[in-house]
Amino acid sequence: MKKILILTAGFGEGHNAAARNLRDAIELADEDARAEVLDLFAGSYGIFNTLARKTYLGLVQYTPKLWGQFYSLLENPLLDKHLGHFPRLQEMLEKVLAETQPDCVVSTYPIYAHVIRKIVRGHPERPFPLITIVTDSITINSAWFRAPSDFFCVANDATADALRRGGVPEKQIRVLGFPVSPVFASTLMELPLPVSEEPRRVLYLINTGKKKAGKAIDRLLELDNVHLTVSVGRDAELRARIIERTRDCGGRVKVLGWTNQMPELMMSHHLVISKAGGATVQEAIAARCPMIVNQVIPGQEEGNAQLIEKFNLGAVVEKNKEIAEAVELAFAKRASLWSEWRKNLKKISRPDAALKIAELILEESQRDSPVRKPVQLFETAPARVMRPPSFPNGSGGAQMLLCDFHIHTNYSDGKLSVPEVVDFYGERGFDCICVTDHLADPKRLLGKLSELTNMTLAQGQVGEYFAVIERERQRAWRRYKMLVMTGIEFNKDGYTRKTSAHLLGIDLKAPVDPSLDIRAIIEKIHGQGGLAVASHPHIMKSEWGRNTLYLWENQEQFAPLLDAWEIANRNNIFNDIGLKRLPFIANSDFHKPKHIYSWKTLIHARKDYEAIKDCIRRNEHVAITLYRDFEGATANQKGHGSDSPAGNVHHFQDRLPLQVVR
Ligand code: ZN
Ligand code: ZN
Repeated sequence: MKKILILTAGFGEGHNAAARNLRDAIELADEDARAEVLDLFAGSYGIFNTLARKTYLGLVQYTPKLWGQFYSLLENPLLDKHLGHFPRLQEMLEKVLAETQPDCVVSTYPIYAHVIRKIVRGHPERPFPLITIVTDSITINSAWFRAPSDFFCVANDATADALRRGGVPEKQIRVLGFPVSPVFASTLMELPLPVSEEPRRVLYLINTGKKKAGKAIDRLLELDNVHLTVSVGRDAELRARIIERTRDCGGRVKVLGWTNQMPELMMSHHLVISKAGGATVQEAIAARCPMIVNQVIPGQEEGNAQLIEKFNLGAVVEKNKEIAEAVELAFAKRASLWSEWRKNLKKISRPDAALKIAELILEESQRDSPVRKPVQLFETAPARVMRPPSFPNGSGGAQMLLCDFHIHTNYSDGKLSVPEVVDFYGERGFDCICVTDHLADPKRLLGKLSELTNMTLAQGQVGEYFAVIERERQRAWRRYKMLVMTGIEFNKDGYTRKTSAHLLGIDLKAPVDPSLDIRAIIEKIHGQGGLAVASHPHIMKSEWGRNTLYLWENQEQFAPLLDAWEIANRNNIFNDIGLKRLPFIANSDFHKPKHIYSWKTLIHARKDYEAIKDCIRRNEHVAITLYRDFEGATANQKGHGSDSPAGNVHHFQDRLPLQVVR
């Protein structure tokens, strides 16, 4: 197995996006390769977390802001002798390298090459190839190339020129494009020029200038044939405001919350309006979607905006009110300006960049140069792998499977995205999970309210939700041998606890209309081979929300219809379910990382979707367990343990680098 370590840092969206896309591309290109992303500047170390704990390093104490300022100082070559001087980061990286013995190290942030130079000082050669991915464009910080790497991968020739001017030998420079998601390469579609009355599809990503966004949208809608898709990210209030403001626009406006489908969105629109974020600009180029930049953060984003202007790929406007003018101009005279932008984009677009870079990395990983590894620089220590106990294979490949069937993501009110949830559970050795975001009944008043506040999956995004989980299901299997099911938690909230019910549909193949009555929903779930499970059916202690007793109070009616009842939900346990001998499962009702320390289901079965569901239906070989790892021992005791190594877990929860992950 080839082991590839990818080092990143979550400052600016470009570095992390590049790192994750490369990881996915490497594992797509070679089933026998394993790539891990590590951010030594964030509090989140993923599978390296145990290691971080062991070495007891508090790198999180450096604030991103400080590092941001630091980044601009890096330009000064006089600082070089200090650049590699981060004793704690160096210590951590040395341990990671010793423990993982990577075949290749990839860096998407300039500091690491300097630290590595320091680590290998005094040895004739680095025991692994180092590949630096320069995520900035055109105006790049010289810190990127002042420390040695075997290769420098850049997005375009203009950036390559900057390296050449800086004295980097030609043979070390590779112009392969910015590593956008490999999805761009696999599904590249080209939206043709809109003719006559056809809609001009415009994607508006609002991340800044929120106050004026409403006015900009009004102006855009004054233009003929413009159809808008507006993405507001996590801002629920803004989303509600824009839905309200565009209520009368007759289907010309679609408002999205958080989305994991940026490649598909960009490829299905004629124009994208956004600030000049590194990843966004590169995604627009990969999708050949001309761009209107409406904000540029001085320093870090200037190069991105220059890229748009220099290659004539779109327009950069100064104020929000100029957006509509720019769009009008683009489509005027049979969209002549737009066509020119598109033509220029085609010339420099490299949607398969991540795969091309992955090829280079994989090639370097297996290079058995005689001078490689002449020195045993690092002592070898076997990595500790934490797995749930597995039972001997007595019954046709059956094993004890650790499962969690009730998990929320940021498609409703959870904190992590679907890919983050998959990595979070995969890294902890889970065997089967089901993602179950809330879907409220639009006919009930509370359903109407909650949709506006982003607490539930938006009707317009249910299709996307199914598609993204399907994509992640395949990745989870490739990477973790973990099963992932698609589910929905149907919220039927009434005004009292006796009229409220939450119903889990587990392992669904297609959306189910949430406005149907509960019996009809159960029928639809069964029609798809899924499980219908009563969620938190009994009195519980929770931070908020009300009890949902409808199914329990009407159990004569519902027990014959339901496949199981939650006997435990997070920290609550419902004795009555067990006493009645009802089929049961136990779930986290996961919304954020600390919820992992809660009740779970163990199933003794083959690792197979049907086998697992069968055990639950028949109420056989099912057990529950309270999940802890050694971080979890103190995780729920706020105020305690903060001076012990486990105290770090709070940073870990609070500081997951969410903004950069799509
Ligand atoms: Zn619920
Ligand atoms: Zn829930």
